[in-house]
Amino acid sequence: MASPTIKLNSGYDMPQVGFGLWKVNNDTCADQIYHAIKAGYRLFDGACDYGNEVEAGKGIARAITDGLVTRSELFIVSKLWNTFHEGPRVGPICQKQLSDWGIDYFDLYIVHFPVALKYVDPETRYPPGWSGESGQIEFSNAPIQETWTAMEKLVDGGLARSIGVSNFSAQLLMDVLRYARIRPATLQIEHHPYLVQGRLVEYAQREGLVVTAYSSFGPLSFLELDVKQAVAAGPLFEHPVVKSLAAKYAKTPAQVLLRWATQRGLAVIPKSNDPTRLRQNLEVTGWDLEQGEIGEIAALDCGLRFNDPIGYGMYVPIF
Ligand code: NAD
Repeated sequence: MASPTIKLNSGYDMPQVGFGLWKVNNDTCADQIYHAIKAGYRLFDGACDYGNEVEAGKGIARAITDGLVTRSELFIVSKLWNTFHEGPRVGPICQKQLSDWGIDYFDLYIVHFPVALKYVDPETRYPPGWSGESGQIEFSNAPIQETWTAMEKLVDGGLARSIGVSNFSAQLLMDVLRYARIRPATLQIEHHPYLVQGRLVEYAQREGLVVTAYSSFGPLSFLELDVKQAVAAGPLFEHPVVKSLAAKYAKTPAQVLLRWATQRGLAVIPKSNDPTRLRQNLEVTGWDLEQGEIGEIAALDCGLRFNDPIGYGMYVPIF
């Protein structure tokens, strides 16, 4: 089964369902990508920070060599890490990431966080992570406008077909839209029933950006990281509202959560190792919840955010 696509403001079509690469182990990454392509996935959501772009590229290369897919049928996403926000750093790091993947353009390249950190030479430490040499957060003075202007040059130079942002607030998005020569095509944000962010989603969609939801299953992804709030929050899969809708539609709770997002026009990027779940997660577009049911799920909102630098012990209060 293949995912339907969504038209971006750049004119390109983006698969609505993709495969996220965060916490995908280096030793299994190539195989996971290969199997995901076999299962029908075409979009892969990577990042410098995930530390697995070389392995991801190997999986892609094997799938292309074996004739499963062509490069032009794939939609490869990567992200600019915080330590490369200064204008002159953007082109070279994007080039390095492309070479890690073994490709010559990204379908979408995203500013990972609205946080500029002091440059770290990739020869010294890669991926650089959040802390500087001192073990503390070391900020850089690069404004987002400088970073965005350099992102636009990636499109001019053919290194990225579309560019986008992640973890941006509506205020910051408003600012970017004032000066953008090339508008962000997508906004990637944490989005699940415990963190609905209705105003931000509506604003981005009104402005013609496609919103991509990450961590669609809420706390589940953060249990392995021991994020306190995730352990305290009840599992979404067990929530009576989600469970009863799953029973009504003969779907899994995971599918209900993904459909709740895709039916409102968002893209989703879950990952799984399990062949059955891989297939399930792709089957989240061809059936509908009722409008009232979409509202019932949205009513679970309690502003509970799991992917917050503060939660990882870093004083970067962006949210
Ligand atoms: P996820 O959507 O991958 O889900 C987390 C867990 O759900 C996984 O451990 C998986 O085993 C399990 N799972 C998947 N499908 C299932 C199913 N059908 N039934 C039961 N369990 C299932 O969560 P995530 O990794 O937090 O987010 C997805 C992707 O979003 C990431 O891989 C990454 O690409 C992206 N992301 C981006 C940011 C950002 O700052 N931009 C932050 C976090 C994640």
